[in-house]
Amino acid sequence: VGDSKDFDSEVESICPFCGVGCQISLKVKDNKVKYVEGINGPANEGRLCVKGRFGFDYIHHDHRLTKPLIRRDDAPAKGLNVDPGNWQEFFREATWDEALDMAADGMKGRGREVAGFGSAKCTNEEAYLFQKMIRQGFGHNNVDHCTRLCHASSVFALIENIGSGGVSASFNEIENADVAIVIGANPAENHPVAATYFKQFAKRGGKLIVMDPRGQALKRHSSHMLQFRPGADVSMLNAIMHVIVEEGLYDQQYIDAYTENWEAEKAHLTDFTPEKMSEICGIAPEMLRDVARTFAGAKSAMIFWGMGVSQHIHGTDNSRCLISLALMTGQVGRPGTGLHPLRGQNNVQGASDAGLMPMFLPDYQSVMDDGVRSAFSDVWGSGDFSNEKGLTVTEILDAVHAGDIKSMYILGENPAMSDPDVEHARDALAKLDHLVVQDIFLTETANFADVILPASAFAEKSGTVTNTNRQVQMGRPAVPPPGDAREDWWIEVELAKRLGLGWTYESPAEVFAEMKLNMGSLNNISWDRLERENVVTYPSLSPTDPGQSIVFGSGFPRVDGRAKFTPANVIAPNESPDAEYPMILTTGRQLEHWHTGSMTRRASVLDAMEPEANCSLHPSTLRKLGVEPGGILRLTTRRGTVDVMARSDRAVAPDMVFLPFAYVEAAANILTNPAVDPYGKIPEFKFAAVRVEKAEQS
Ligand code: SF4
Repeated sequence: VGDSKDFDSEVESICPFCGVGCQISLKVKDNKVKYVEGINGPANEGRLCVKGRFGFDYIHHDHRLTKPLIRRDDAPAKGLNVDPGNWQEFFREATWDEALDMAADGMKGRGREVAGFGSAKCTNEEAYLFQKMIRQGFGHNNVDHCTRLCHASSVFALIENIGSGGVSASFNEIENADVAIVIGANPAENHPVAATYFKQFAKRGGKLIVMDPRGQALKRHSSHMLQFRPGADVSMLNAIMHVIVEEGLYDQQYIDAYTENWEAEKAHLTDFTPEKMSEICGIAPEMLRDVARTFAGAKSAMIFWGMGVSQHIHGTDNSRCLISLALMTGQVGRPGTGLHPLRGQNNVQGASDAGLMPMFLPDYQSVMDDGVRSAFSDVWGSGDFSNEKGLTVTEILDAVHAGDIKSMYILGENPAMSDPDVEHARDALAKLDHLVVQDIFLTETANFADVILPASAFAEKSGTVTNTNRQVQMGRPAVPPPGDAREDWWIEVELAKRLGLGWTYESPAEVFAEMKLNMGSLNNISWDRLERENVVTYPSLSPTDPGQSIVFGSGFPRVDGRAKFTPANVIAPNESPDAEYPMILTTGRQLEHWHTGSMTRRASVLDAMEPEANCSLHPSTLRKLGVEPGGILRLTTRRGTVDVMARSDRAVAPDMVFLPFAYVEAAANILTNPAVDPYGKIPEFKFAAVRVEKAEQS
C-alpha cells in the first residue's frame, strides 16, 4: 500500500473480475498502475477482495499483445500451443490497416457462414456494437457470449416467470432481510465482497440457509447447512415447497394479487413429500420441514443462487423452483426480499442487456418480433435481418463441425478453454477457414487465429459496465494501451467500416446515446450523468433518481402484471456414475483465479498464491486411492483424461472431485459433459461421471 507520494494520478474505475462490480481507485505512476484501493461504490463501500486488490498487474505483463498479428503462410498447424515469448514461428506483425482488411475480407459477404462470440469482459458499448455488427453486417442472429455458460438457464426462467432477466433486488438488501437462502453459490470464493454482507447479516442474527453439495466457507455462518446430493436440487426444493403447501404457510393474498398458475403448482407439489424426496436429495425430512417453516415464516427473505443451480441440464427447472418459492411466500418487491442470481463476470449483466445473445436484441426484446427488429433497423439505417433465433455458443461450434459456419470473430472469449468437451471446441476452431481473435493475450483460442487484433485491458479504456445489482457504472482509462493495442470499440468500428456498414462513431459516449434510443432500461441514465455520479441503477425514474434497487413491488412486467408458477419435475443428470466412471466431477472457480486464467495467472500475487493446477477430494477418498495430498491423480471421463495434483478437502463429499477450470495444463473442460439444458442451452458443467485413480508418476 502506498501513500499520495507514490503515484502521479488516481483514476476511479470498476474491478474487472466478478459481477459484484466493486468501485476502485487505480493509483498510477509513470504510466503504470502501481496499486489499487477500494472506493465507496454502492456494491462495495470501500471493500475489495484479493483479486480486486492485488490482481491488476497482468495489464503490464510482457505477454501483452502490442501489434496486430497475421498467421504466417508457413506456420505450423493451427491450435498448437504458441509460446507467448516465441510467437514469430506462427505469426507475423502487421499494420492495423493490413490486419483489419484481412479480418474483414474473411467475413465480408459470407452471411450465415459467419458467427461471433462477444465478451462479458467488454463494456456495454462494445457488447452493443458487437451484436449490431453481426446482425447488421450478416443479416442473422448467430451471436452469443459466455452468459450461455453461466446463467442462461436462470435468465430463461426469470423471463418466463417474472418477465425480466435482472435481479429483483440488490444483494445489499440482505441487510433488511431476516432469512436468506444461498444455493449453488460459493460467494466467499466467487463473489467475495458480497459474501462480507452475507456474513454481517448472519452476525446480526439473520438466518442464513446454505444449500450446496460441497461444503463452503459460509457454512460457518449458516443457521442451516443442506449438503444435498449433486443434481438433486428440484427434489429438495419441491419438498420444501410441499411442506409450505401442506402446512398452509403460503401467502394467499400475495398469490391472488400477483401470480398465475398457482393451483397447478399446488397440485404438482402433492407428491413431493419430504420423506420421498429425502431419498433423492439426501437431506433429512425434518431439516426440509424446518427450512420450509423458517423461510415461509420470515418477515422478509431473499434467495441468492449461482452456477451450482444454473449449470445443469435441469438448470431452468432449478431456477423455476426458486422463483416459485419466492412467489408463494410473497418474498418479492419489498425491502429485504427478492430473487438474486449472482452474476459471474463483471459485465455479464450488461452484455446480456446489450443484446449479445442469439434470441434477444438489447433489453431482451425478441428477434422474432417484427416491430422490435424494425425499430432497430430504423436506428441503424439498414435493412431487416433474420427473425429466427440465432445459434448459441455450443450450437455455433457444432455448426462449424457440420461445415455450416466457416468464419468467426471472437472478441475476448476463450472457447478453447471455456467450452464443455473442449477438444470438440478446439477441433471446431481448427476447422474454421477464417478466425479473427481480438484479445489482450495470446489465449488458447488465439492459437487457432488467422488474424489477431491487440485490444485493451479495463484500465486502458472508457465504457460503462453493469453489475449483478443492475448498477450501471463508469469505467475510465488510467493508462494507455501498450504498443499499438487499441480500445475494443475502436477496433469494432474500424472493422465495421471495412465490412461496408458505414459506422462513424467517434467515442463510446456516442454508442451509449444510440443504445438509449431502443433501451427503455437506460431511461434517465446518460453518459454525462454516469461521468458525474459514477453509478445509476436501472430502472431510474427521473434524472435525479439514483435508481430502483428493488423492483416488482406492484406487479411484474408480464401479461396482467402477474408472475407465473411453472411446476418442475425431477430430472436426473445427463450421465450417472457407473462401474466404469464411479465418481462425480464438478467444476468451478477458486478465489484467486478468474475463469480461464488468462488474466489472473499473469497477476503476480494471485499466481504466487495459487500457482498450480489442483483438484480437491475428501481425505477418506484420497486414502482409498492411496494418494497423499500433493500426489498426482488421473481423472478420466467419457470425453478425456487429465492428470492433476490432489488436495484434501473435507468439504467435498466422498464420491465427488472438484476441479477448478482456470488451468490450461489440466483443463477441466477436457472432461466436462456438453449435454445442455433444453431451454437455456447451458452445459452441465456441474456434473459428470468420472473415474479417479492414482496417476503413474505419483
Ligand atoms: Fe473485484 Fe468481485 Fe473481488 Fe469486488 S468482489 S474486488 S468485483 S473480484
